[in-house]
Amino acid sequence: MERPYIVAGPCSVESRGQLEAVTEALARLPQVRLVRCGVWKPRTHPGGFEGLGEEALAWMEALRQTHPAVRYCCEVALPEHVEAALRHGIDAFWIGARTTANPFLVQEVTEALRGTEATLLVKNAPSPDVELWAGAIERCRKVGLADILAVHRGFDMLRNQGYRNSPLWEVPIELRRRMPEVPILCDPSHIAGQRDRIEEVSQAALDMGFDGLMVEVHPSPDEALTDARQQITPAALETLLARLVVRRTDNASADMQLSLLRGQIDRLDQQLLQLCAARFDVVRQIADVKRQENMALFQPQRWDSLLSQHIAAGKELGLSEEFVKSLFEKIHTESIRIQHAHTQLS
Ligand code: PEP
Ligand code: MN
Repeated sequence: MERPYIVAGPCSVESRGQLEAVTEALARLPQVRLVRCGVWKPRTHPGGFEGLGEEALAWMEALRQTHPAVRYCCEVALPEHVEAALRHGIDAFWIGARTTANPFLVQEVTEALRGTEATLLVKNAPSPDVELWAGAIERCRKVGLADILAVHRGFDMLRNQGYRNSPLWEVPIELRRRMPEVPILCDPSHIAGQRDRIEEVSQAALDMGFDGLMVEVHPSPDEALTDARQQITPAALETLLARLVVRRTDNASADMQLSLLRGQIDRLDQQLLQLCAARFDVVRQIADVKRQENMALFQPQRWDSLLSQHIAAGKELGLSEEFVKSLFEKIHTESIRIQHAHTQLS
């Protein structure tokens, strides 16, 4: 598969003019393989904009006359959706997060696609459960679908680093380990939830060896009826695609794992630095007390007993004596230097 495989288009089709504008713009971008169009929107609360259904499908069908190279794809959550979309010549579909969570629906939707050559994208379920995601893909295979891709749209939970959906990269990495032949796209729009963080999520995904992206694109994002904050213009998509660095991957599974582990190292290093800074703050407070009480800065007995405690604790944790010794010698030297400098200043 040519990487990155890009799926782009509006969260929802809202008018014929909007669909025309986005189709024309995306038809010009060679990386865009599918134009995503939400025509039935799963809304958490009733009463909101729920998509235009068949009316939008008819516009998509008509626009394919003028843009024969464009391949549309729409979300299907019920067998009736599949039947209506097939009637309008749509041959690519995605199963949304809420549908993946329901094996009965996945079964019905995939049954409705039996015997077609459809492309089917399967989003992960909202909960961080690789089983539901893998199970939905297995159901697609059981009805004979061959062109199946997974889409990582993040998970609905609190641990989210300021994103709308938590990426929890370990879940798509586990899917890759189990099903290395299934391409995985990342949906940075629903993960980030805000357009200025789409690039960082997209680059992280490509660095991990994801095969492509599904991005929400709207001609006037701020006026969008759904997901306005996270949609970007076609021009912004073009800029994004030009900026992203696509790495060569010979072993996508190893790339994903390495990238996840490097992220953990980065976070741990940050914590190490913060801990050192916090420790040296305490050292300054100690210097104040010693100065007030007119005590010596360096107290060798305390240093010796601390060091042997640390060496013993380090051994429990599998850290060598040489390492613990040299680490604390460095920290101690810096503490003495800080105490001196602090005493001189005050
Ligand atoms: C969507 O793609 O517009 C959508 C509803 O996403 P999800 O199913 O990932 O919530
Ligand atoms: Mn959306």
